[in-house]
Amino acid sequence: MFDVLIVGGGLVGSSLACALQNRGFNIGLIEAKPWASGTQPAVQYDDRVIALSYSSRNIFKGLGLWSKIAPQATPIRQIHVSDRGHFGFARLNGEALRLDALGYVIEAKVLGHVLQQDINQAQQVQVFASARIKAVHSHPTSNTVELEQADSSQTLHTRWLVVADGSHSPLCQQLGLSTQRYDYGQTAIIANVTPSQPHQHQAYERFTDTGPLALLPMREQRCSLVWTVKDTQVDSLLRLSKPAFLHALQQRFGWRLGRFTQVGQRHAYPLSLLTLQSPLQKALVVIGNAAHTLHPVGGQGFNLGLRDVSALAQTLCDKQQLDPSALLQHYVALRSADQQRTIQLTHTLVQLFSNHRLELSLIRDLGVLGLDQIAPLKQSFTQQMAGLGRQAARLDVAQPL
Ligand SMILES: Cc1cc2nc3c(=O)[nH]c(=O)nc-3n(C[C@H](O)[C@H](O)[C@H](O)COP(=O)(O)OP(=O)(O)OC[C@H]3O[C@@H](n4cnc5c(N)ncnc54)[C@H](O)[C@@H]3O)c2cc1C
Repeated sequence: MFDVLIVGGGLVGSSLACALQNRGFNIGLIEAKPWASGTQPAVQYDDRVIALSYSSRNIFKGLGLWSKIAPQATPIRQIHVSDRGHFGFARLNGEALRLDALGYVIEAKVLGHVLQQDINQAQQVQVFASARIKAVHSHPTSNTVELEQADSSQTLHTRWLVVADGSHSPLCQQLGLSTQRYDYGQTAIIANVTPSQPHQHQAYERFTDTGPLALLPMREQRCSLVWTVKDTQVDSLLRLSKPAFLHALQQRFGWRLGRFTQVGQRHAYPLSLLTLQSPLQKALVVIGNAAHTLHPVGGQGFNLGLRDVSALAQTLCDKQQLDPSALLQHYVALRSADQQRTIQLTHTLVQLFSNHRLELSLIRDLGVLGLDQIAPLKQSFTQQMAGLGRQAARLDVAQPL
């Protein structure tokens, strides 16, 4: 019998396994894909980079993993926010909050390796890879999972079942948990690019009429591009030759980083906002992208998922006197304000900056200027981007749980 069985070994599910190992729990981790080992690239992590917020750094520090992540991450010292074709821009930095960086950029697969290595060394985590869930039965105090691996089948029993199987969660669909979906009609094209001028640890968030365009500083003076375009533009941009793509990017972004000289492989991600009506079913809870998939503007998705992981791990450690479903209700209540605020922030940013009505573009211009000039507004926005909102700060102690 497991204490905690996690479905999904992506960044969120793996982070939870790391957070709970060594705390007296018997943990199982079920992953649909093969579990990579050693230095081999993990198949479940793609070429995406993740901008880790300062609060995520604190959580990983508390888990004893930051010393392995930091040497491979690039600090973001400043964020430059602008609205293409409009006056005004804002520069956010960590000075007012006394932070040496607002966040850190790391390739998702590199972060994945760190988490996998930690899991591989943990005595209390049993990994079931290349596994298929046939059925789940959720009860008020336990769960049963019927699992298929290669040619064999087995039944696993667990007190808590945590579902972290990503966007369009197959398990949530199987369980009949209802999802709300808002389609942005936008797709993110991601690629690594090299500009002729050094990025100087500055990230750029540029709002354009097709959606936001972000450039994040990376190692070797590269930048990670997240270029949001309308769905109808994707195919033609992906088909462009490298020089033609760089030219199109140059026209969109401008010359703040000089000339773009190189681009790596391009990938496309259709964007929608997905939220569950309730992430809870008896002694089962849904976290990460399976519970809330956000637009990538502001790089909030994994950071939000990691704050969920931190709170869930803390609740599991602190509230064992509660019965399994009451404990999960406590966790859900603890997290709902931060989740709502973060979902609202990204959704509003996309809506506001994708609209061409004159009165809205004036509000935007004033907003961007206000962000630069009005200290309390700047501080509060910077705090939210760094993941250090009031509730998050209380949970994200830089101490072991
Ligand atoms: C273009 C883009 C840029 C982004 N940039 C940022 C950023 O800068 N900062 C940030 O914080 N976030 C960012 N995000 C969001 C971030 O990538 C996600 O929030 C995060 O990866 C979600 O992790 P997850 O573990 O919940 O889901 P996933 O990464 O999707 O992992 C789910 C795992 O579950 C497994 N699985 C699926 N079905 C089953 C099953 N039935 N049984 C067992 N296992 C199963 C999958 O194989 C996978 O390994 C970005 C997203 C996009 C699209």
